[in-house]
Amino acid sequence: MFKIIKKQGQSRRGEINTVHGTVQTPAFMNVATCAAIKGALSAYDLKKVKCQIMLSNTYHLHLRPGDENVKALGGLHKFTKWQGPILTDSGGFQVFSLAKLRNISEDGVVFNSHIDGHKIFMTPETSMRIQSNLGSTIAMAFDECVENPSPYDYTKNSAKLTARWLKRCKDEMNRLNSLEDTINKNQLLFGINQGGIYKDLRVDNMKEIAELDLAGYAIGGLAVGEETEVMYDIIETVIPFMPDNKPRYLMGVGTPVNILEAVYRGVDMFDCVMPSRNARHGHLFTWSGIRNIKNAKYELDESPIDESCDCPVCQNYSRAYIRHLMKANEMLGMRFCVMHNLHFYNTLMERIREELDNDNFVRFYERYRGILGNRI
Ligand SMILES: [Zn+2]
Repeated sequence: MFKIIKKQGQSRRGEINTVHGTVQTPAFMNVATCAAIKGALSAYDLKKVKCQIMLSNTYHLHLRPGDENVKALGGLHKFTKWQGPILTDSGGFQVFSLAKLRNISEDGVVFNSHIDGHKIFMTPETSMRIQSNLGSTIAMAFDECVENPSPYDYTKNSAKLTARWLKRCKDEMNRLNSLEDTINKNQLLFGINQGGIYKDLRVDNMKEIAELDLAGYAIGGLAVGEETEVMYDIIETVIPFMPDNKPRYLMGVGTPVNILEAVYRGVDMFDCVMPSRNARHGHLFTWSGIRNIKNAKYELDESPIDESCDCPVCQNYSRAYIRHLMKANEMLGMRFCVMHNLHFYNTLMERIREELDNDNFVRFYERYRGILGNRI
């Protein structure tokens, strides 16, 4: 299912083969939390911004429109018209970040919906059932995500619980994939490494979950309060214990520079709300750094957001026009900014893959790590 085509240092150029198509890695997953990209991009638009794989959210889709309704409508692919691979995250992160009054036990988590407050009991098994109903390509294991820093003993027990939950996720997915009316009987399960900012816990947990021989492994629980250097340090610590022949996914990360740094350390997959969320505030990523399009200096500027970008927005519209749309709160402004930013992220990944193909990634990394985070 996963093939490494080339390596340079720790960095890997690979591909993931799935029933919904192939993902060239390193790859960025475009985040469609509620089965839509925030900023009014459709599945059709996703193709134009070079998206390879879409990510949707179990917790949100369980609440609205309900995963059983999505199943009745043929699954997420039929529902959204996105035909490529889809990864669904397990709901763990949302349960621990959005829900109020939660209560964790060995069985699972009781919490209140952030929409209408009704009580929900989520277990590893229910998370797998919801993701099976959604029919995604890759399902994520249900985990407890602790904030950083959390006390050592709490983090240790939590990582142990997450590992026990992972075994239950695997059993339940095997059962679901064998049922007659399951939408995607080839659904893949990725396990999630936890252990907070404690290296020994991270390594112990990774060794334990690697034994389950899952389709892929993620590093979770990072970019949740710790310093960036701590995050890089944890990635470097965990990577040697992640199976070499499985895709490695760094959850919820990050800026273009974070992505370069993580690819350099051996990560294959990413997702983040940053390109779409920042776009909705007019913060645009370019090859020369980050541009705030609402800035007064763009009032009469007829050049595109980024001269070297070939996205549909940069090919047609000026900074002055997009600035005006954003200042006037026109929905079109937001849509343009999100299109550009996602196109930039997907193109960044494409460039990274090309540089890896040409054994040139380290030079590319050294050049752009000092540029992509600049404010212009
Ligand atoms: Zn552009």
